[in-house]
Amino acid sequence: MFVSRETLDELMAAVSLEDVVLSTGYGVRGTGKSKGIERCPKCGRDWTHIKINSRKNLFRCMSPSCGWAGNAFHWVMETRGCQFLDAVKYVAALGNFELPQSTKEEKQHLQRVQKCLQETVRFYSQFSHEYIAKRGITKETAEQHLVGYAPGGTVLKDHLNHLGFDDIFLEEVKLIRRVGDNLMDSFFKRVIVPIYMDIRIVDLYGRSIYDKGTKHFYLNGQKILMGYDDIVPGEPVLIVEGPFDWLSLKQHKVMNAICTGGASKFSSFHIHRLKKKGVPMAYIGYDTGDKNGSGQEGAIEAGLMLQDADIPSRIIQMPEDTDVNKLLRDQSIDTYRNLIQKALPFEKYHTFHTLSKIPTDLIHEYLNSVITRG
Ligand SMILES: [Zn+2]
Repeated sequence: MFVSRETLDELMAAVSLEDVVLSTGYGVRGTGKSKGIERCPKCGRDWTHIKINSRKNLFRCMSPSCGWAGNAFHWVMETRGCQFLDAVKYVAALGNFELPQSTKEEKQHLQRVQKCLQETVRFYSQFSHEYIAKRGITKETAEQHLVGYAPGGTVLKDHLNHLGFDDIFLEEVKLIRRVGDNLMDSFFKRVIVPIYMDIRIVDLYGRSIYDKGTKHFYLNGQKILMGYDDIVPGEPVLIVEGPFDWLSLKQHKVMNAICTGGASKFSSFHIHRLKKKGVPMAYIGYDTGDKNGSGQEGAIEAGLMLQDADIPSRIIQMPEDTDVNKLLRDQSIDTYRNLIQKALPFEKYHTFHTLSKIPTDLIHEYLNSVITRG
């Protein structure tokens, strides 16, 4: 098998290094720029030494006596003790990425997975739940985007078994899982939103109908980019956090919107895809009014990555503890359009954010020194 440089680059951008690391049984600690891998497989030092550069999808051990560095393929070769091509195949399988030179069996397998996911989406879309309306999503919007409901138990398993998908296969594609001695549907009392890319179903999002426990659950949970197929090439995009934010925007006919499945989920994969569509600029619509600061941090992280990729961005300042879904439900699309209009250029937002963490007397002192010098 020969894999071209372009394919390797595309594959490396498509699957985040963090997901690859996690899949090999290594934990990841810290956030943002200080993200590290729990232990360096070469020298054994802890996460404060071996760092992940999420923007470039590379890792490096900072220990002077080690210095081991590389990409996802190097990581897999070392931790799984395999050859380069096997590492490429491993990463491709993890990201549901079809290699151009895939064997007939591999292609057939991907087709079967796709058929099974399509049937799952169709099956769940027959069910509805009042939670969908509670989030302000109309019946029409739900139908249009095949939003459904998973009652749980073994309804899906029974249905798919009946269609010839056996338990081993269903467990492998994670639609069912072992609970004690039984095999049960993975989605239990959740609203289901399918995620498409390149006209294929790449993931399923399940929102619990309860506000306790695991609220958000993804079948795969990697490289989430809802709305990719609808992006109009060459037009600005609006980036939001959650599938319900995205559904509300679609309902209000805001077409060029994408969802990354969380404020901390923006990665090189998104950059790669936005570049592919020739996106000239982006509006970041994360939950920047959240008191815990995660929306702000995520927006800045995404803005920096976009800046590196020469895609200018603007950050929308959201009201306190409000996301796009809530704002569109409680207020109006005009209120939101107003916020989009007032979005700050990234550099300005970033500077203000940095300044907000510095004591004002220190800022005064600095300004005075600049003025005195002048
Ligand atoms: Zn090391």
